[in-house]
Amino acid sequence: MKQTFGYLAILALLLVILTGWKGDGNNGVRKGEKMKDPQRTILAIGAHAGDMEIACGAVLAKQAQLGDRVVFLHLTLGEGGNPKMSAGKYGEQKRREALEVDSLLGGETIFGPYRDGELPNDETARKYVANVIRMVKPTDIITHWKNSIHPDHSNAHAVTMDAVLLASLPSVSTVTPYSKTEFPAWRGVRRILYTENWEDMEGYEPYIYVDVTESFDVWAKAVSKYEFIGGKISSFPYLNYYKSLATVRGAEGGYTHAVTFDIDKFEKKIRLRNLDQ
Ligand SMILES: [Zn+2]
Repeated sequence: MKQTFGYLAILALLLVILTGWKGDGNNGVRKGEKMKDPQRTILAIGAHAGDMEIACGAVLAKQAQLGDRVVFLHLTLGEGGNPKMSAGKYGEQKRREALEVDSLLGGETIFGPYRDGELPNDETARKYVANVIRMVKPTDIITHWKNSIHPDHSNAHAVTMDAVLLASLPSVSTVTPYSKTEFPAWRGVRRILYTENWEDMEGYEPYIYVDVTESFDVWAKAVSKYEFIGGKISSFPYLNYYKSLATVRGAEGGYTHAVTFDIDKFEKKIRLRNLDQ
């Protein structure tokens, strides 16, 4: 069964290509994109509340300012991360923080039904995420890179990849104990991006550099509303790390601040008629 879904993940990526987006050797940005593209809907799927905001919230804030719809799906609250508080109590706090931060970044929030550290890569999870994709109708999906030191992150990646395909197939029912309403099939996902996260760096290569200079301050102020990012819970210096990373990636990309994404290897094809074009 696991292998079957491995094939499904490959099919999902092929579907993305067939339904629109093509790696064209321009760092994932199509020519004339700004003029021709309709408004995007970006669905950012993270294992824990805070993952997507800290890693790529500056891009999402910028896109929201440009008129895109931004939706966060937090598969778990990440409620197990505070040794000084019960999971129940910290979960309530994380829920409040997520709503505030996502709103400040210009996004909407969906909370998944899973518990921190127990995100499964199973059929129900795939169908749950597929149903959210059908409901939100994203053109762009952002999620974790495939490798991670945190199993919830790598499972979030795997579940999301399979869910993109399942969401597109009208014959697939996405009713689960968590999703009573089944939405119609959606095959409008044009692009899947993997965000840069300190826990997901094995094999990650920054490929797309997005200038976040304008949204940097809004992002830093917003994500600081999460207590764990502000530095009071974890010994990991989240805010300093990601601010510094944005400076480093900015220098590499020719901007003051930048956020990077990776894409699948087979999307990195550069196609030329000859060596000049
Ligand atoms: Zn996480």
